[in-house]
Amino acid sequence: MSENIKIYIGLDDTDHVDIGCTTEKLNHLLLYLELNINFEIVSRRLVRLWPFASRRTRGNAALSAVVLLDKNDENKLYNLCNKWFNKLLSEISNHPLCIHPASPALIISKTQFPNEIYWETVRGHVKLSSRLLQIKNYNCKIFSSNSQWGIIGASAALAWSPEQNSSYELISWRKKSMIGKKRLINLETVIELDNKYPQTFLNRDPTKNRGLIAPRTPCPVLYGIRSSSPEILEDSHKWLQSKQDVEKSSDYAIHCTNQLSDDHVTPYYGTVLSKPTTSKGAHSSIKVFVNGKIRTLLAFSQGDSVNRLLRLLEPGDIVSWTGLLSPSDSSIHLEKLSILEPVPRIYTRPTCCGSSMKSAGISQKLRCSGCGKNCEKYWLGKMPNFSEIYMINNWTEPNPSNRRHLSKPLDLGVPILNNLIP
Ligand SMILES: [Zn+2]
Repeated sequence: MSENIKIYIGLDDTDHVDIGCTTEKLNHLLLYLELNINFEIVSRRLVRLWPFASRRTRGNAALSAVVLLDKNDENKLYNLCNKWFNKLLSEISNHPLCIHPASPALIISKTQFPNEIYWETVRGHVKLSSRLLQIKNYNCKIFSSNSQWGIIGASAALAWSPEQNSSYELISWRKKSMIGKKRLINLETVIELDNKYPQTFLNRDPTKNRGLIAPRTPCPVLYGIRSSSPEILEDSHKWLQSKQDVEKSSDYAIHCTNQLSDDHVTPYYGTVLSKPTTSKGAHSSIKVFVNGKIRTLLAFSQGDSVNRLLRLLEPGDIVSWTGLLSPSDSSIHLEKLSILEPVPRIYTRPTCCGSSMKSAGISQKLRCSGCGKNCEKYWLGKMPNFSEIYMINNWTEPNPSNRRHLSKPLDLGVPILNNLIP
């Protein structure tokens, strides 16, 4: 009896803006390997990375898989991967020209890369040269295009461990003959899916009456269904596929993912320093003081209730937020916003006998015109009312269509504060 070994496979940067999807490419690779070698897929991982990465693809996702195989088949696996990868390179060389042509990388490793590699790549810019140095000492095989960019994402996908903060996404792919045509997925059926399987999330945006399971790009993905339970996903996919008004998929797979984890952001709090300003581009901004630094918080018009809350802020309010520090101008692009301690908004005099007391003049006391009682001058502050803004535990977020894949919806939990310098 021979020994089984665990192998980690990471793949990234295989798609063109109009062609392909790395999820589908990983599926191809695993199907190809299955035909030629005996092995077991332990898990597939869909790992979203820093949304501001300059070379990102649409959702900036990288893929990985963990497989078990016979130790004697190790070299056979490398040979098959090499063959498959060369075929992928020749396919990609036929892609139409674009600004960032695909720069694929496939990494096969016998150990999981350290967690820091994931955290660096989900939270900020990574230099290719430093990543190459970092992974040099691991016992891994790297297949890549000459430009090697894909190594950054592929290595991060290998370094993510799902124990931390994960959920699942079932991805189904379209039949080849359907790619480029309009996807057939009835909104009524998506609403039914939402009601029938309440453990699935983000199937639709109720504020826009729009389904969220299908991408709006020409990629080969038919739809993705999200849940914290893989069993529910399998059932809901089968149910969708049984419907007349839903396109039939060619294949599907369940991925463990860091989506909805908020791993890309750290919550902060600070004091508002300025009144909000609104620019022509319809985004609003305020200045905040946080840990001895002044930062600009930006809310975009599509951020809806985040933008609305920001426009109601006053200097002195203590707010907390999550957002991404823009590498171009160091402003913070808000994702979630909360008002921790508002300052009073409207100031009034104390009341007596049903109306407010009035001062007879400078250096005069306040006096009630009803009973004649007087007192020293003071103002009463009225706290603001934010009841017209959608909030959960004082936090607000954009509607589901405008959230990033990585953003954790407030109904799954509000951010926990600490205060490092953003
Ligand atoms: Zn009175």
